[in-house]
Amino acid sequence: MAEFIALIPAAGSGSRMGEDLPKQYRLLAGKPMIYHALHTLCSTVRIGAVCVVLAPDDTEWKRYDWSEFVGKIKVLNCGGATRAESVTNGLKALHAANHVQDHNWILVHDAARPGLSHALVERLLDQLTDDEVGGLLAVPLADTLKRADKAGRVQRTESREYLWQAQTPQMFRAKLLLDALGKAHAGITDDASAVEALGYSPKLVMGDAYNFKVTYPQDLKLAELILQERIATR
Ligand code: C5P
Repeated sequence: MAEFIALIPAAGSGSRMGEDLPKQYRLLAGKPMIYHALHTLCSTVRIGAVCVVLAPDDTEWKRYDWSEFVGKIKVLNCGGATRAESVTNGLKALHAANHVQDHNWILVHDAARPGLSHALVERLLDQLTDDEVGGLLAVPLADTLKRADKAGRVQRTESREYLWQAQTPQMFRAKLLLDALGKAHAGITDDASAVEALGYSPKLVMGDAYNFKVTYPQDLKLAELILQERIATR
């Protein structure tokens, strides 16, 4: 049976947050943002290891106590210039250390999605374990979509039928993921698009709104409320 390994790229600078502190370390419910996804992934019994990919010059990680995750996490200081590079470098480091086999499932999850729940991880594992390709959490688009012209006026309304917003974790076998990222064009923003470019159709698994990506300063308040409530009911 293939092993499940989570990989959290956490080497971004979070420039859209407008702060010097990389956003994965911004405090939410009293903990650095990355703590929350780590907690969910590390306490998922079926996941054998959780790898965190940090920027080589990261100075924040060692300021916090991660001892509750000892035995389950591996910290790799090999982040790259893009998310895809960070994931690739992390996978290569795991390979070089013999910590991953080609057929192992890799769940790549953004450090900036602290609202990931156990229920979502379990759903992803349940629905993809026997899948030929792999897939990702995603939610069907709720809003009406407008295409703008250069002047910022509506050119037309797009149909939202069959449109989904991609989330993470995105789950693929190690070999396919590494091959796909190695051939991917520079602008890709998720793992699935690299796999799609090889001609595969990843499966969409229903995510939820709590698993949104904290990107802008106004996202922090919502994330704080969600996490406080979750911690209170643990
Ligand atoms: O910037 P964005 O929110 O799209 O980043 C998504 C995830 O990718 C974050 O967890 C971020 O830390 C990570 N990332 C990375 N290396 C980069 C850029 C982003 O690990 N060079």
